[in-house]
Amino acid sequence: MFRKVLYELLNFVLPNSCISCGEPIDPHEKFVCPKCFQALEKYEDTHPWKDEYIESGVITNSMSAFWFREGTAIQSLMHAMKYQKMKSVGKMFGRELGRQAAEFNGVAFDYIVPVPLHKAKYRDRTYNQSEYIAKGIHEVIGGEAIADGIIRTRYTGTQTRLNKAERKVNVSDAFKVNGKYPEKFAGKNIIVVDDVITTGATILECASALKKSGAGMIWVCSAAYAELKQAD
Ligand SMILES: [Zn+2]
Repeated sequence: MFRKVLYELLNFVLPNSCISCGEPIDPHEKFVCPKCFQALEKYEDTHPWKDEYIESGVITNSMSAFWFREGTAIQSLMHAMKYQKMKSVGKMFGRELGRQAAEFNGVAFDYIVPVPLHKAKYRDRTYNQSEYIAKGIHEVIGGEAIADGIIRTRYTGTQTRLNKAERKVNVSDAFKVNGKYPEKFAGKNIIVVDDVITTGATILECASALKKSGAGMIWVCSAAYAELKQAD
């Protein structure tokens, strides 16, 4: 009761509006109106690198929930999730991924592990958005979300200006399984999750680290997939 009153009072003081179109929304929607959510473009394609990594035994599957398109609602949502502490946006993306994963009948996952931020970035931002995506997946398909399952061994900088080959070199051996978990992960089915993936270099490097340490089946999943912009 008290919570409800407080919630409505807060909503009166700080009215909710859709972060994409700005229209007022039901307080329970929290951040995006149903119309804008419906308009997000689902990613139903196959990642261009998927088959190669399935054949080499690193992953069993890869998925993204939505296309990343500049100037559309997905960009506002990503921004809110990464920089405005709107962690529930991450959970919303995660639940969508969870629903997609649940369509593969009979596949059960033991753990959901986010791609880690570098320590310095984590200090600045105070949270890892992908951890909340992992929690959203957990809400739908179960398994245990483990925030520190993978750790970065070095800073890799932004990949934005690098091409596919350079990205791969840039993240090579930049991740390892947290020393607490190799036994826990051995032979287990694990989802690795990130916010946006493009060439998959980072998330596939995480998957490789898990595989090398003895994990079972690995899926790599992201909230959104962005095409690589071909810089000269
Ligand atoms: Zn809207």
